[in-house]
Amino acid sequence: MVQGNIFQDDIAEVIIEEEVLQQRIKELGAEISASYDERDDIIMVCILRGAIIFMADLARQINLSIKFDFMDVSSYGQDTNSSGVVRIIKDLEENIENRHVLIVEDIIDTGLTLKHVIEMLKTRNPASIKVVTLLDKPERRVEKQLAVDFNGFEIPDKFVVGYGLDYGEIYRNLPYIAVLKEERYS
Ligand code: 5GP
Repeated sequence: MVQGNIFQDDIAEVIIEEEVLQQRIKELGAEISASYDERDDIIMVCILRGAIIFMADLARQINLSIKFDFMDVSSYGQDTNSSGVVRIIKDLEENIENRHVLIVEDIIDTGLTLKHVIEMLKTRNPASIKVVTLLDKPERRVEKQLAVDFNGFEIPDKFVVGYGLDYGEIYRNLPYIAVLKEERYS
């Protein structure tokens, strides 16, 4: 039972508690810090909008000099099934040539979005591209070859909300990852 939250009647189950999220993000920050040289010129690329809360918390656990940039690509909107169509709505501001790009994703489902973003960024000749995702749904992967460097949690094939993830643009500000009651997904 979730108490004291405006959304409490909508939530069927909390699948990752706030403390568990924050602990794992600390670990990811340490792993990422150790994987680069401190002289590397690193840009964290947040995939809007779902990854903003993860990016904000993760960046504070990374002990390197990093810059931020943002890219917006089309997502599910009101629907919970991937169309496989990825549209760039907002491109990066920074020139990434010869720089180290760390893509920050909220969740990888089919992998189609990420594959498209990586291929587009590769054409700009970055020094490297790494990917960190908070959540991964491996059961639904279409892009089997997709290389994910850092992965927070593997989750089952359920549509989740919270900690940046929405359903119809709502629930992003929940501090944990949850599944909604069946009747809310309509
Ligand atoms: P993919 O292209 O990997 O199928 O989908 C990636 C995008 O779909 C994510 O960045 C996210 O915006 C959306 N998505 C996939 N699974 C979920 C989910 O369980 N909950 C929410 N809110 N969005 C999801």
